[in-house]
Amino acid sequence: MNNHLYDTIVIGSGISGMAAGIILAMEGERILIVEQHSVAGGMTQTYSRKGKLFPTGVHRLGSLDQGQPLWYYLKYLGLMDRLDFVKLDDNCFEKVYFPGKTYDIPMGHDTYQHRLIESFPDQEKSISTYFSDLKHVISNIGMYDPSITPQKDLSLQYTLPLEKYLDAIGISGRLKSLLTANSPLYGISSLECPLLTHFIISDSYLNSSFRINETNTPFSDTLANIFKSNGGEVSVNSCVKTIMIKDRTATGVILNNNEVLLSKKVIFSGHPCLILDICPPELFRPVFRKRLNQDNTPGSFGVALKWKKATCPLEKNDVYIYDSWDVNDQFNRENILKEDSLGMVYLSALPEVNRSDTSDQTVAVTALTGIGSKETALLNKYYKESKTATYQTAKNKIAEKILHHIEQVFPDLRENIEVADTYSPVTFQRYTLTKNGSAYGIKKTAQHFLEGSFLPATKVKNLFLTGQSIGFNGIHGSIVSSVNLCQMLLGKEYLTDKIVQKK
Ligand SMILES: Cc1cc2nc3c(=O)[nH]c(=O)nc-3n(C[C@H](O)[C@H](O)[C@H](O)COP(=O)(O)OP(=O)(O)OC[C@H]3O[C@@H](n4cnc5c(N)ncnc54)[C@H](O)[C@@H]3O)c2cc1C
Repeated sequence: MNNHLYDTIVIGSGISGMAAGIILAMEGERILIVEQHSVAGGMTQTYSRKGKLFPTGVHRLGSLDQGQPLWYYLKYLGLMDRLDFVKLDDNCFEKVYFPGKTYDIPMGHDTYQHRLIESFPDQEKSISTYFSDLKHVISNIGMYDPSITPQKDLSLQYTLPLEKYLDAIGISGRLKSLLTANSPLYGISSLECPLLTHFIISDSYLNSSFRINETNTPFSDTLANIFKSNGGEVSVNSCVKTIMIKDRTATGVILNNNEVLLSKKVIFSGHPCLILDICPPELFRPVFRKRLNQDNTPGSFGVALKWKKATCPLEKNDVYIYDSWDVNDQFNRENILKEDSLGMVYLSALPEVNRSDTSDQTVAVTALTGIGSKETALLNKYYKESKTATYQTAKNKIAEKILHHIEQVFPDLRENIEVADTYSPVTFQRYTLTKNGSAYGIKKTAQHFLEGSFLPATKVKNLFLTGQSIGFNGIHGSIVSSVNLCQMLLGKEYLTDKIVQKK
């Protein structure tokens, strides 16, 4: 890093910052990515505990078979050839446990449709409507699948609440619970979730579902290596305290150590509300500031487990365990530190293909549950007041609840696992600065869809936004947000052609 003028400084090294950096570096720009944490990668990072590698914010990716939506993006970014993807079971990539009943979710829309009709024959017509609507919506929205260019992007027509839509087409009871059981992947209840969000996530994983074998090629390192091989520079431990602005135009950044770095453009990829701390807030209209500070999706509490390989039920599928048929209840619980039960626990494992250490007969499993903003605030208070005692006790309590929840389905759990670590939304907040430890950033509700939608350009010339709150959540959505931004800078057709044609 030196004081030369960069074409672009990207703030944040998560998937969105890296994707923007790689795209612009491939176009010959001189790019610097600055990251406040000591390790690059944001939520794509992994960490080691008790000899195992665990993911933080990437457990599985959808639509990676050739010609599927995310495949195009990862191929273009140079990731398809460098990462080792492991496909989940076609016949059951997700297992959903409800009280007294378990469902295996297969890949493939038709297969799933037939399976649902077998289980819910009385709702056959509604199931068919659901799948034909899903197909219709997906083919009429822009960006999610770069190979589809709808005549007109109809995204805004599909923002009605999911619950309302399901009711309108006659989906009810247990079928409704099953179809909305993937809501932890977008962190929003069916009462508030825009239909579009549900269809995008469901379509993505039904197309195909993969995990990344990160043991040899971690996602975050691979991203950084691709970026650097295109001439980019990454600087960690570099927290931006000020975005320099002159005549309403961004001119560079000042780091916490007072280092001044100049650039023609600045891209901010962290939680968007943070720009109010690093830019004079009066540059933005009050209504915009209010939108940046609106509600966020819940945070995640995780327990990292070493699970004996011989008994681990997650080799080829992920698992949701619900303690009731009311899927939305998981978003209402605000007191899990006391009497509330968890509602839902999600389990996923890191694949370990071709491991050199054959003596290790355990699998790295993460068990996750959502934590609402009030409880996160409490955990934050405990963390600040007493970095060890009270906070640790609270974490232990939630971890114990998670284990108890899993035991209802896997009674022999305790004999087969060792707890390697626990983390809370406070951990995410510390490492990525995400607001309230939110897993997916700003909550885009059906009721306030436009307020939750942001453009990459800001009122400040040459200052741009990207990230999961700007696009849609997840790795796919975060990449889309950066592609959208780069289309604005480089030309929409120009970039789309490059992405789609790089086969
Ligand atoms: C527990 C969990 C599990 C998940 N599982 C999946 C999954 O299986 N599949 C999937 O697709 N998605 C998953 N997600 C979501 C996915 O991880 C995110 O949508 C995505 O990684 C967000 O990327 P981002 O670049 O927008 O943000 P981040 O990864 O948070 O990157 C933003 C970066 O900006 C940096 N930053 C902020 N402010 C500053 C500053 N002032 N100076 C310097 N740096 C700064 C932060 O430190 C951070 O590194 C999961 C999320 C969570 C929390």
